[in-house]
Amino acid sequence: MKKNKNPLQGLKVTYIEGHPLSGGHGEFRKRQYDEIINNRDIIKHRTQIILDTEEQTAHDWWTNHKCFKSKQFWDQDAEIWSPYPIIHFYRTSIGAAIHVVCPVCQEDKDVSDYESW
Ligand SMILES: [Zn+2]
Repeated sequence: MKKNKNPLQGLKVTYIEGHPLSGGHGEFRKRQYDEIINNRDIIKHRTQIILDTEEQTAHDWWTNHKCFKSKQFWDQDAEIWSPYPIIHFYRTSIGAAIHVVCPVCQEDKDVSDYESW
């Protein structure tokens, strides 16, 4: 495990006046951050049809990805904003490939567990 700098450290409070995020901006994002770090549900929050090895690969990649770890990424003022990456499913001749895509830089990670196909 790499040493992680906390991307939420010193987060600006940028909530829209009159519509503050519940519990305050920083607290709300902290909960989302902890959910991702602790739950290992990058893909599972979208679909249950996923192998643990694939979820593990997706989780390791996303939580170490430069955008996920940047403060800029977390400094969002919309409550509906999601800190989860985009999940793409591709049908191939031998099965379904799963890719995880960063919503910021569009970096694409193939997390398919081909060994299990
Ligand atoms: Zn990125």
